[in-house]
Amino acid sequence: MEFVDLRQQYRRRKAYIDARIQAVLDHGRFILGPEVQELEVRLAKRVGARHCVSSASGTDALLMALMALGIGPNHEVITTPFTFIATAEMITLLGARPVFVDIERGSYNIDPNLIEPAITPLTRAILPVNLYGQPAELEAVNRIAARHGLTVIEDAAQSFGALYRGKHSGNLGAIGCTSFFPSKPLGCYGDGGACFTNDDHLAGTLRELRNHGQLARYRHSRVGINGRLDTLQAAVLLAKLEFFDEELAARSEIADRYTALLQHVVRTPRVLPDRSSAWAQYTIEVPDRPIVEQALQAGGIPTAVHYPLPLHLQAVYAGLSLEMGWFPGSFPVAEAASERVLSLPLHPYLRPGEIEHVAESLREALHGPLGDEAMNLRR
Ligand SMILES: *Cc1c(COP(=O)(O)O)cnc(C)c1O
Repeated sequence: MEFVDLRQQYRRRKAYIDARIQAVLDHGRFILGPEVQELEVRLAKRVGARHCVSSASGTDALLMALMALGIGPNHEVITTPFTFIATAEMITLLGARPVFVDIERGSYNIDPNLIEPAITPLTRAILPVNLYGQPAELEAVNRIAARHGLTVIEDAAQSFGALYRGKHSGNLGAIGCTSFFPSKPLGCYGDGGACFTNDDHLAGTLRELRNHGQLARYRHSRVGINGRLDTLQAAVLLAKLEFFDEELAARSEIADRYTALLQHVVRTPRVLPDRSSAWAQYTIEVPDRPIVEQALQAGGIPTAVHYPLPLHLQAVYAGLSLEMGWFPGSFPVAEAASERVLSLPLHPYLRPGEIEHVAESLREALHGPLGDEAMNLRR
């Protein structure tokens, strides 16, 4: 069993993917070739945004979004400590300060009730993350931002394909950033990402930033980056878009099946009724996680932990935490989650027998002989 089975996906969809890649090899326009624009048009339409600006990674999409908003030294951006490092890392890279607020217990996303107290005269933006594929409470976040003259950047790296109150993830803030890292719900064969916006001016700025601040060939208006998506990756994404909806439905079915089998065994994920998840991860909570991980591994079941250490406790942010007065205990919900979460194998081609094997192994790990032993050890 694989955690994410990209080889199986390729075997099943080989003809169309090969044809798209071959077309690029034949025309030879590897940088900003026709597939890049075709993809941007398709993605913008799908998400319902006026503009899509593709990028070399999800990290670059975040960097470009922050740069487009002019975020830099002496600015603060409010975000969550329970996310992949890239979210806060790009804020720090620009000389600004990530200001963490805790998450909600049910969704693992930023708690909107904690945002307002964290706003200072230095705050410029709010950067909610749609963890595991489920959109954060974006309407509440947008309302707070509007009240304080702030901009919202949506970290939709895990949630491309999800819906929130009838709108597509990626189009829920002023700029939405997503990732096409191979294991994300829509993944390419390398690094890739995109920004979405409905603002014509921001879209123009993002396009310049992506290509060395270039207005026209060798005419540079600002400092930018090399943040372009490869034509080959755009071709892979165009191929995969053909069956993305099928795959999204399969992910959702697999998640439902896991939940049916596990809801009385462990804490299973909850998707709020006004939204859907892209199911980037199926993440449960377990006590004695190392023992459970070991038992599953022994049964040939790969697992992962997203994420084992909240960002305020990372070595890279020791200085920031000292300055801000953050300690273990400062963000109790994120800290408790980081000790208990466990992501199970999830990809569109996982078979019913494999799902049952995972569920059965988990039940045994928690309540079988090993499970009881673990509980005794704790007492
Ligand atoms: C994957 C991810 C990113 C970064 O995307 P890359 O394409 O790997 O650069 C940023 N934020 C979150 C929440 C992610 O999961």
